[in-house]
Amino acid sequence: MSNFNIQSILRDNIKNLNPYSSARHEYTGEASIFLDANENPYGSPLDQDYNRYPDPLQAELKTALSKIKGVPSNNTFIGNGSDEAIDILIRAFCRPGIDNILILPPTYGMYEVSANINDVEVKKVSLTPQYQLDLDAIAETIDQNTKIIFVCSPNNPTGNSLYREDVEILLNNFNGLVVVDEAYINYSRQKTFIQELTEYANLVVLQTLSKAWGLAGLRIGIAFASEEIIHVFNKIKPPYNVNQSSQALALEALNNIDQINNWIRETINERTTLTKGLLEFSFVEHIYPSDANFILVKVADPMAIYQHLNQEGIIVRDRSKVTLCEGCLRITVGTPVENKSLLEALKKFK
Ligand SMILES: *Cc1c(COP(=O)(O)O)cnc(C)c1O
Repeated sequence: MSNFNIQSILRDNIKNLNPYSSARHEYTGEASIFLDANENPYGSPLDQDYNRYPDPLQAELKTALSKIKGVPSNNTFIGNGSDEAIDILIRAFCRPGIDNILILPPTYGMYEVSANINDVEVKKVSLTPQYQLDLDAIAETIDQNTKIIFVCSPNNPTGNSLYREDVEILLNNFNGLVVVDEAYINYSRQKTFIQELTEYANLVVLQTLSKAWGLAGLRIGIAFASEEIIHVFNKIKPPYNVNQSSQALALEALNNIDQINNWIRETINERTTLTKGLLEFSFVEHIYPSDANFILVKVADPMAIYQHLNQEGIIVRDRSKVTLCEGCLRITVGTPVENKSLLEALKKFK
């Protein structure tokens, strides 16, 4: 076990913080007249009423999530997208100008951006050419001021899952937080880490409703962690960070798990079909195995193909300038019709 101790890595200003106490926080019990929050008592100029402040801790949504995920509400934080959770972690645990985070590129861009915004140094250890963790280099790079390691699995933009044993080695040996970003876990053959929260005090698992759940527009990100870590999130988040309509719509969406599972199955099938289709083209040099809803494709001339597709009205992501992704485009798996259109458009490429 690592010698992780949350109090020893938490910033002093957060430890000593007196959090904002909202009106809805301060009362308990039953009431029928609310004159405590300066709201408009008449209602909203909409079919639905939005005149009241939303539940700051999203109790109903957490209860519904807990039933699906098997993680207690007390181990759950809901944010305005995963991006809010990433930012809160950096602000809570990293002293600007002193501490650092470790990222493992090529990976999701927000960890670095969020650290930069907060004036927190970013240390980098590239993944191996097989897109796995370089544990020796990680051990050499971390120092006393490394507070968080961001691990993305399945990884964006490479699409593969990281070896579970390697992530466990980090969890067992690193005295800071290990954040496992599972935005694409629904498409993966690998098991989630959310069942390991009782095992590892330094584990934070990020998930989101933005991908498989089809709710990117609602901005609902989730962090699962120990109650102590969740307490830190709740202490520093903006009081009403998830708005009323997002809470209500997400709650309704969670009833449709069969629909989601069907879409996941179809996307995984399409991932295989699209991969086979792409391999027919002579300019496709390699397709990396994917555990996500996108594939990383190495091509002879990425810029030209990007431009050609653009002219055909199809946008993919050019990752060809990213280290270890040279020559690569990242292509999201679309509907069967969209994927067919993509292949048709590529047939016209000369
Ligand atoms: C898309 C994505 C997210 C989701 O971010 P939200 O803010 O929840 O929409 C998180 N992590 C990774 C690696 C992603 O690719």
